[in-house]
Amino acid sequence: MRIGIGYDSHRLVEGRKLIIGGVAIPFEKGLIGHSDADVLCHAITDAVIGALGLGDLGKYFPDTDPRWKDASSIQMLKEIIDITRMNGYDVIWVDSVVIAEEPKFFPYIESMKVSLSFAGLSPGAINIKAKTNEGMGFIGRGEGIAAHAVCLLDRLCERTEK
Ligand code: MG
Repeated sequence: MRIGIGYDSHRLVEGRKLIIGGVAIPFEKGLIGHSDADVLCHAITDAVIGALGLGDLGKYFPDTDPRWKDASSIQMLKEIIDITRMNGYDVIWVDSVVIAEEPKFFPYIESMKVSLSFAGLSPGAINIKAKTNEGMGFIGRGEGIAAHAVCLLDRLCERTEK
């Protein structure tokens, strides 16, 4: 088995859609980045890349590559899930936390799981938690949103033999 950890943060600005876990969430601001800046997707993708020992997100999806300009981060995660299977592994669990002062994400968590399943993650193998930062730091001031994720990979062949 392999484990991986991922972290990401993006700045909140006006005039952008807020996309978290592949779901567009109604809010007056959105996250800015080269892609859709889906902070949860990026943290999960980096956790999977880390578990594979293949570097980090920036290596696969450089912000200088026009292919990823405003791209769906669900598509980026799907590419990494495909690479995971090509390497003989499957993602068997993801735990994650999104940290934002606003808005409240709880009502969207089940939709995020469904959206992440389009990337190849099983909705039954992912947990998403939402927290505030108790008013502290850049998150507390509403300047940005952060996410953490861990994932567990298991060998595809060993799972099919069980
Ligand atoms: Mg990012």
